[in-house]
Amino acid sequence: MADLLKAIPAVKGMMADLKPRSESLLRQGVQPTLGILRVGEREDDLSYERGAVKRCEQAGVQVEKIILPSDAAQEAVLAEIERLNQDKRIHGVLIFRPLPPQIDDAAVCRALAPEKDVDGITSQSMAGIFSGTHTGFPPCTPQGCVELLRHYHIPMKGKRAVVLGRSLVVGKPLSMLLLEENATVTICHSRTENLAQVCREADILIAAVGKREMVTADFVRPGQAVIDVGIHVKEDGSLCGDVDFEAVKEIAGAISPVPGGAGTMTAAVLAKHTIEAAERMEF
Ligand code: NAP
Repeated sequence: MADLLKAIPAVKGMMADLKPRSESLLRQGVQPTLGILRVGEREDDLSYERGAVKRCEQAGVQVEKIILPSDAAQEAVLAEIERLNQDKRIHGVLIFRPLPPQIDDAAVCRALAPEKDVDGITSQSMAGIFSGTHTGFPPCTPQGCVELLRHYHIPMKGKRAVVLGRSLVVGKPLSMLLLEENATVTICHSRTENLAQVCREADILIAAVGKREMVTADFVRPGQAVIDVGIHVKEDGSLCGDVDFEAVKEIAGAISPVPGGAGTMTAAVLAKHTIEAAERMEF
């Protein structure tokens, strides 16, 4: 049976570091604050929002929610982003995506002030990740995966990491973060040949395919660390990931659960980035 890479012990350590930092900001008259912009009432957005609010509260970050109806016009969304950009009380902004189809995602990403981009959606943040200059913040989910591996002392340096998925939200930035940890990184996608074999060669396998329980026993080998980024709601309302947990846990050396793994780390990293954004701002 694989070791469980549960997020909560890692999150507790992060909170122990963050709380004094938010208190120090408060003593200087700064209340670290996250602005959340949500368009519509998608169940997965609501679920992530609940987790984000909880972690922010624990870290001493105030949350201000802006909720627009799912048929909101692009102008209304851009106007709210501009308001958040200008609001000196707001240090970080989280925009739930995917946005409804009438809204141009690229325009939204361009509109956000880079210094408030705590979830790494602007091209300035991406440039920071890909150039290794650390201007801006990486997206919270990839950063959370790396922090989970670090917490459990899973070696990355010199190890073979396979990232299953090449989205701009998870796969590509995570590959860059792993590269920075001196892993040897392979990025797989829907056109990869011999996928299961490539995955089996990894020391660290990250599943971010968005396909329910696609990573089965033949994708893994003994000793491997498996991080499951996927989130899917089953027919009975419970959650599962991109990995067939029951089968894979019998083979791999370590595996992150769903829920309680990558998703929990994501919300904690969001609180951390907001505090860092407040610390970086001049006041
Ligand atoms: P996405 O944009 O749909 O990207 C999926 C990636 O997987 C694509 O690169 C795609 O390849 C690849 N892929 C799809 N089917 C495949 C197959 N059969 N074989 C090999 N590769 C395949 O998804 P995403 O936004 O990266 O999200 C991935 C998962 O993570 C989802 O389950 C999502 O819900 C979850 N997620 C979780 C969090 C969290 O906080 N835990 C945050 C964000 C996302 P192509 O590029 O070739 O199409």
